[in-house]
Amino acid sequence: MNPKRDGHVHTPFCPHGTSHSLEEYIEKAAAGGITTLTFAEHAPLPEGFTDTVPDKDSAMSLSDLEAYLMKLENIKKSYKNDITIFTGLEVDYIERYEKETEQFLTTYGPHLDDSILSTHFLLADGEYTCMDYSPEFFSSLVTQTGSADAAARLYFETVLLSVKADLGPFKPGRLGHMTLVHKFQRKFPLKQYPADLVHQILYAVKEQHMELDYNGAGTAKPLCREPYPPEWIIKEALKHQIPLVYGSDAHQPAELFQGVTDLYIDKNIHL
Ligand SMILES: [Zn+2]
Ligand SMILES: [Zn+2]
Repeated sequence: MNPKRDGHVHTPFCPHGTSHSLEEYIEKAAAGGITTLTFAEHAPLPEGFTDTVPDKDSAMSLSDLEAYLMKLENIKKSYKNDITIFTGLEVDYIERYEKETEQFLTTYGPHLDDSILSTHFLLADGEYTCMDYSPEFFSSLVTQTGSADAAARLYFETVLLSVKADLGPFKPGRLGHMTLVHKFQRKFPLKQYPADLVHQILYAVKEQHMELDYNGAGTAKPLCREPYPPEWIIKEALKHQIPLVYGSDAHQPAELFQGVTDLYIDKNIHL
């Protein structure tokens, strides 16, 4: 059965996404039974931070943000009888840019209904790597940190920092794809899985009253083939009664509902 809510959908404002219109996403989501949809475009990266991917296209630019917010305000009205649209952003947590991120959120947070906090950039040896950009990027992070295990620990440590970070009153309420570091796991198997950090993250998520993005995108990645996070972590999250929100992470309408059939569902899960 399809979820009723999709809390993680990208838009034509995504520079590494597609130009499909918001209407196309909405129509397809509604036809599949979605009643609440959050558009969560990659928020502009914090002031002073330089995107480290080749095309510098990880996130929307600040100059597009007004237009994005306005477009969502309008579309939300035109569809109000059919579907609830939330204005959101997927905000990057970048270690050492907490102040800038808080400032950004203080300015734009009042316009947001719902948002996601995600870690894509990791700081190792004073340099930031967009760890999920490609297997090659991940491989260089493995070299830099010494091993796949060390890279995974660095990722989860950074996620833990993000959950605990003081980003002000408009800090996003949901943790994005908490096991994104599994994206290339079939190529970079771990010797010892950092379950201790996963438990600490869940504990912190509970303490901060955050939700988890139950993200289907990993199922479509050939080196991952599981949702973010996988079943055992979902079961742990349920023990803590952490709310789960399905996220397709669609960057085109065809990716709506991705991973749905791979999600772990039991009587306590209402997506
Ligand atoms: Zn994206
Ligand atoms: Zn993301």
